[in-house]
Amino acid sequence: MTMPEVVLEEQGLRDGLQTVRTIIPTEKKLEWIRRLVNAGLRRIQVASFVHPRLVPQMADAEALFECLDKQPGVVYSALVLNQKGVERAINAGVQHLAISLSASDTHSQRNTRMTLEEAKADFRHNVRLARAQGIRVRGGIQCAFGCRYEGAIPAERVWDLIKHHLDAGADEIALADSTGMAHPVQVRHIVERALELCGSVPLALHLHNTENKGLANLFAAYEAGVRQFDTAFGGLGGCPFIPGATGNIATEDTVHFFHQMGVETGIDLEKVAAISHEVASLTDAVLSGALYKLPSRLSVS
Ligand code: ZN
Repeated sequence: MTMPEVVLEEQGLRDGLQTVRTIIPTEKKLEWIRRLVNAGLRRIQVASFVHPRLVPQMADAEALFECLDKQPGVVYSALVLNQKGVERAINAGVQHLAISLSASDTHSQRNTRMTLEEAKADFRHNVRLARAQGIRVRGGIQCAFGCRYEGAIPAERVWDLIKHHLDAGADEIALADSTGMAHPVQVRHIVERALELCGSVPLALHLHNTENKGLANLFAAYEAGVRQFDTAFGGLGGCPFIPGATGNIATEDTVHFFHQMGVETGIDLEKVAAISHEVASLTDAVLSGALYKLPSRLSVS
C-alpha cells in the first residue's frame, strides 16, 4: 500500500463516547481500539482523564491504558483538562497527551472557571509537568473559529495562542472548531498563517460538523497544507458543555472523501463503518455520518 498522505486521529472513543449515556464496557472499547488499528488508524484518542462524575463514560481511562495491546507506530493519546488529569495520565503511563485551552474567555470561564489569562498559566504548568516525564504534548486551542457565547474569535488571538503554545513547549498544535462555526475561507485564512508559525511542528485540525461544513472546512485546510485531522467513527459526538454541538466529521466519510480525490489515508473505510454500525446498535446515539448507512459504499481505496 502507498504511504498515507494525510493522518487521521480517531476521536470516537473520547469525543464521541463522552456524549453517549449507555456505558460501553472496557472490553468492548479495547476491541474497537484493536479493530481501528487493524483498519489502519495510527492515532487513537483512547480516553480523557476527567472526573468520572462529570463524564461517567470516561471512568475506565486507567483500565483502558493498563490493558491496551500497544502496537508499534500507533499513538494512543488521552485528553486532560487540569493538573489532576495530567497526574492520573502520568501514573497510567500515557505517552501522548492532549492539553488545551479555549480561545474564548467566556467559554473558558464557563467550562473551567478560569479566564483566558489564568488558563494560559495553567496550560504552561501542565505542559511542563507532562514533558518532564517525557510525554509528548499536543497543545490545543478550542473554539478557534468561533464561540456560541462570544461569536467571532479574532484570528490574531488564535495566532497569539499558537505562539504561546509553542513557547510553552507543545510538540504539536491542534486548532479545534469546537462549535462547528468555521467556514472554508476563514479556515484557509487562519491556517495559512498558523502553518507558518508552526514551521516543522505538526498542525492538526479538530473539526465538528455542527453546521454541516466539516468536509468543506477540511478541504480548505488540506489545500492550505494541513495533513492531520481529527475524526470520529460514524460522526459520533458533540460536546456536553457546548449547546447544540454535534460530533466530529465521520472517519469513514473523510476516508472516502480523500480516497475519491486520490489522497491516501491508509485506512479501510469498511472496517471503520462496521464499528459505526455497532455503536449505532449498542447505544441511543444519533450518528451523523453518511457512508456507514449506505448498503454499498463503493470503496475506491
Ligand atoms: Zn471536539
